[in-house]
Amino acid sequence: MRFYLALWLAKFASFLLKIASKFTSMRGTNFPGEIALKICPEFIGIISKPEKIAVVTGTNGKTTTSNLLVSLLREFGFDVLSNEYGSNIKSGVATALLNGVTWRNRSTKEIALLEVDERSAIRIYPYMKPDYVVVTNLSRDTIMRNAHPEYIFRMLNTYLPDTAKMILNADDPISFRLKEHNPRVYYGFDQQPEDPVEDTHLVNDAKVCPVCHSMIKYKFLKYDHIGQVFCPDCGFASPTPDYAVETVDYASDRLKIRTSSGTNEFHLISDTTFNIYNEAACIALLTELGISAEIIAQGLEKVTIVDSRLREERCGNLRIAAIMSKGLTPACNAVLGYTVSQPGEKEVVLYLEDKHELAVSSERITWIWDSDFELLNDESITRIVITGFRRYDFYYRLLLGGISSKKIILVPAPEDVASQLNLSDGSSVFILNDIYSVPERDRMIRDIKNRIGGKV
Ligand SMILES: [Zn+2]
Repeated sequence: MRFYLALWLAKFASFLLKIASKFTSMRGTNFPGEIALKICPEFIGIISKPEKIAVVTGTNGKTTTSNLLVSLLREFGFDVLSNEYGSNIKSGVATALLNGVTWRNRSTKEIALLEVDERSAIRIYPYMKPDYVVVTNLSRDTIMRNAHPEYIFRMLNTYLPDTAKMILNADDPISFRLKEHNPRVYYGFDQQPEDPVEDTHLVNDAKVCPVCHSMIKYKFLKYDHIGQVFCPDCGFASPTPDYAVETVDYASDRLKIRTSSGTNEFHLISDTTFNIYNEAACIALLTELGISAEIIAQGLEKVTIVDSRLREERCGNLRIAAIMSKGLTPACNAVLGYTVSQPGEKEVVLYLEDKHELAVSSERITWIWDSDFELLNDESITRIVITGFRRYDFYYRLLLGGISSKKIILVPAPEDVASQLNLSDGSSVFILNDIYSVPERDRMIRDIKNRIGGKV
């Protein structure tokens, strides 16, 4: 009875919010789920669920990966239950589940594809047993909330159900060890000719062998601790990927993935390494769900990555690329590495501050000191424009990274960034922005385009 009261009240709240959203810009809230959980704490356990449940979790890339999966599954004709407009914590999951049942608690959806916050494991998995768990990676994250990747590892390892099929990143020495006795498949890269084997990053969260505690070695390294490892002392090594990225053709946007049944070609939806992992994770899960490579390939021709994470435009001979780099070490390192690896001369805009309430907390700058800003000390980078409240912190960090002050320009307001750029013909502008600064980023792009409109 308690459950039905929770269901009906929460559904009624959801109905009212839907009406309200027609008149305001309100979209996606956890409020109905919060009501349901207040009245009935076991709500997630009791509510009817679709026959198949897949979750995406991990430190970086879970929103991109789950959004891609939801779009693809819809493209393939599935009626999908998702939390794409809600949050990935318990109340967000409860709200999503609520929208997948009738007033009499009958499930109306075929499949649930849910993004689940790693730290919510303890509050969600005792009530909901996913059939598939995609893990993008486990990396250093905000210290106050996530402590250390090993802490998150233990949490997931303890609370994920023993029956779930794990879809794991073979190149993440931390997360590939999750749920060792569960059924599992791995996705990852084959060694590429350009891959380094030496670990030169400031931060690596997988430096020692988890078995014998010797220093770990890399067969190849992609970014941060992501790569194929082996232990020279005890034989511990990365697993062989079941879904192996064989080659990436950046010029023609093609990606070849090898499985035991052969090699298939797919459209490359983004040329950033971390997004190639996300794409491989999607292909792995969809294949495990029984969808053929041919159908997946057709779907991948049609989907794109959410604009807030990656936006790229060409304006004459100028390339403008805006990449979201959540204010955290691994995300930032991957983005910095990508930026420097791109051809030609580049100007870089740093607008990485988090306008969230935590922006004033000292935690928001600790990650700056762990990130590889040294990477920007490269000849191809001709100018770095830093803007926002934290600009002096970044300025100091870049100076300590050996970058000449002559290359750096400090601009108090983001709206003045475009006027400080050179925008020379044939060069690129990389805007590195935080999740909370998408409107300012879009304005910068517009201003840049306006400036060169008459020039190119
Ligand atoms: Zn070892």
